[in-house]
Amino acid sequence: MAEKFIFEPTTIDQLKDHYDVIIIGSGGAGLTSAIQAYELGLSPVILEKMDKIGGNTTRASSGMNAAETFVQLDHHIIDSFEDFYNETFIGGGKQNNPALLKFFTEHGALAIDWLNQHGIKLDDLTITGGMKTMRTHRPSSLAPIGGYLVTELLKYVAKYQIPLFDKIKVTDLLVKDGQISGVKAVGERDLTINTEAVILATGGFGAGKDLLAKYRSDLLKLRTTNQPGATGDGVKLAQKVGAKLVDMDQVQVHPTVQQDTPHAFLIGEAVRGEGAILVNNNAKRFVNELDTRKNVTKAIDDLGGTGAYLIFDRDIRKRVKAIEFYDHIGLVKTGDTIAKLAETIHLDPQ
Ligand SMILES: Cc1cc2nc3c(=O)[nH]c(=O)nc-3n(C[C@H](O)[C@H](O)[C@H](O)COP(=O)(O)OP(=O)(O)OC[C@H]3O[C@@H](n4cnc5c(N)ncnc54)[C@H](O)[C@@H]3O)c2cc1C
Repeated sequence: MAEKFIFEPTTIDQLKDHYDVIIIGSGGAGLTSAIQAYELGLSPVILEKMDKIGGNTTRASSGMNAAETFVQLDHHIIDSFEDFYNETFIGGGKQNNPALLKFFTEHGALAIDWLNQHGIKLDDLTITGGMKTMRTHRPSSLAPIGGYLVTELLKYVAKYQIPLFDKIKVTDLLVKDGQISGVKAVGERDLTINTEAVILATGGFGAGKDLLAKYRSDLLKLRTTNQPGATGDGVKLAQKVGAKLVDMDQVQVHPTVQQDTPHAFLIGEAVRGEGAILVNNNAKRFVNELDTRKNVTKAIDDLGGTGAYLIFDRDIRKRVKAIEFYDHIGLVKTGDTIAKLAETIHLDPQ
């Protein structure tokens, strides 16, 4: 059996006062940037403010969307950048920035290739909300994608001996003569580190109450599934050196989240993608489960706070390993027959 890989962050005594590039954040964006920078011959460093590495990326469970990939062809799925663009555009209420969306939809396949070239294989497919074809890539072990990605990327960080410091929070970007010249950060002590380039890989602000209050106060009543460090630091750092902000109110709410447990848990979209149905308290379906996230969220909200149930069978469970985790933390109720299940969750078996 393969030995379990345990990553150890770099110890603070090894911190230098200059790197070619400082990468702020240790999620998927930060880790891939660091690996690529190293392979291009640069000396990168990754600074992570939390004591847990991987950011929201470790929480992702369903998969990664991309079109026109070799994986799709292996599965006999013919897809196009155009369809990916159009379906995502509709999912975004047609408010997406067209240039950014075009770039995103036309580069997903390169990301799948890049990972594959690094031995990180997303060779299985499922389908997620708003999409009309199988373009959500995931590992064939069907394990939650985020943990898999972070572990495999960290193996490269370890192999290349890229320094990754945890518990260091970047507080300021330093600018000299109109160019980035370094960062200020706090850890056990205040730090200044010099560089020619910074990559902001700090993630979003789903757990940032101040920014939510400013841009989407209607969402403050919801519980987030984001990690506590997702507080929009990158937005603030960039703004302090003159960046302008756009589309700050465009925060997406995921439809299936367990809200009444001590921690809120996102029930990954692959569960619906693989065929689970949503029913209301009257045991009736009330929405197309694979409609856009916005529409499914609205349909659940329109139930008036009763919540809804996701119903799935053993075959679906086999195809979504994250369900084992949901069961482990007590979110899953089972019955040998539909009637028994209905009895357990107090729904009409008919
Ligand atoms: C529960 C959940 C499930 C999801 N499922 C999916 C899915 O199936 N498919 C999908 O495509 N997407 C999914 N997403 C979204 C996806 O996880 C994110 O879009 C993606 O991981 C963002 O990656 P990132 O590297 O940009 O940011 P993150 O992974 O969030 O990493 C940012 C890192 O920067 C650190 N940081 C922030 N500020 C500072 C600072 N000042 N100094 C130092 N470090 C800092 C943070 O602590 C964090 O570790 C999911 C998200 C959640 C929360």
